[in-house]
Amino acid sequence: MSRSQNDFDIETRLTSQSAFIDSATGAVNPPIHYSSTFHQHQFDQFGPYDYSRSGNPTRKVLEDMIADLEGGAKGFAFASGMAAISSAFMLLSAGDHVLISEDVYGGTFRMITQVLSRFKIEHTFVNMTDLSEVARSFQPNTKVVYVETPSNPLLHITDIEEVVRLAKAKNCFVFVDNTFMTPFLQRPLELGADIVIHSATKFLSGHSDVVAGLAVVKDEQLAEQLGYIQNAFGSILGVHDCWLLLRGMKTLGVRLKQSSQSANEIALRLQSHPLIEAVYYPGFTTHPGHSVHFRQSSGAGAVLSFSLPNQATTKLFVESLKIPVFAVSLGAVESILSYPATMSHAAMPKKEREKRGITDGLLRLSVGLENVDDLIKDIEQALLVASKIGEVTEHV
Ligand SMILES: *Cc1c(COP(=O)(O)O)cnc(C)c1O
Repeated sequence: MSRSQNDFDIETRLTSQSAFIDSATGAVNPPIHYSSTFHQHQFDQFGPYDYSRSGNPTRKVLEDMIADLEGGAKGFAFASGMAAISSAFMLLSAGDHVLISEDVYGGTFRMITQVLSRFKIEHTFVNMTDLSEVARSFQPNTKVVYVETPSNPLLHITDIEEVVRLAKAKNCFVFVDNTFMTPFLQRPLELGADIVIHSATKFLSGHSDVVAGLAVVKDEQLAEQLGYIQNAFGSILGVHDCWLLLRGMKTLGVRLKQSSQSANEIALRLQSHPLIEAVYYPGFTTHPGHSVHFRQSSGAGAVLSFSLPNQATTKLFVESLKIPVFAVSLGAVESILSYPATMSHAAMPKKEREKRGITDGLLRLSVGLENVDDLIKDIEQALLVASKIGEVTEHV
């Protein structure tokens, strides 16, 4: 019995990897091929694998799987999200120009400003939510528009289809970092993007145990070019991490559904709390990107941000919490609370940060799989401590 993946919903396809595994044994999980090289049976005709940097059967299962989920021609697995992003940027040449979201992931900001600039690849940061600003910012040498939606940490929404329309009119490629949504909630290639990129370290793997990156290219010709770079640059994902990632991906649907539902409940509760100044969450109809987001995605996701009045109350709040991990990263079974001011955006000058709304009171919460009532109780008791001390310091 052979199974064509395309007959099924993504939730079903996530759970079954057998379509991509060599069918010789019937195994439902791929074997881990710890082999750097492959014997060639014939002198003058080589098999599908020769050396594991160029291709490995375990990695191929993962690469075929993500290509299927995103609906692209070919998938590629890299050593990290940044390796995937950097490799995609290597499709560019000296003299080319990139239009990029101003609130892009910190590591991408660093790569663009500190590394690519040395290779004479130019960039302009734009507010991607403002389509007229995007339209005005193209240059004759613009080759790529780089989008992250929802963005980090304020969850700004970019209209992927509209950006694609502007980019195609200028003969530019569109790359989308789909880390926050995953193909379970949003499939940028179906909206016209050329390459979709993931930090698979986050929701796709889901257990805070792997650092990995994935990219999927929509058409064969560009896929061939990225495949060439993957092999030439060599920043591939090791086979054991490929296997761990595949294992994590099986439960992506159920994890993201549950976490998103809990995130929604927590967002509502935070919004009605007097100590909370703002909640940033695309699930709210009052979020400025709400309608665009739900046109291109099937859910709000499991990440939200919120702000407390100042650093002192934020510190007390964080120190009073018992459940969430206080750490960088997101998208795991455990809830992860981050403090952008000193974590993801530490390198940004305070003035620049605050101009972007990343204040000393801003926290980002990636909601995990704990019981949501436990999470809410924990958050409420920590807010109570923070507000009491807030009152005390005000009177001093
Ligand atoms: C974490 C992250 C990255 C970088 O991925 P790594 O796996 O840490 O290299 C890129 N983009 C987004 C949106 C991320 O959250």
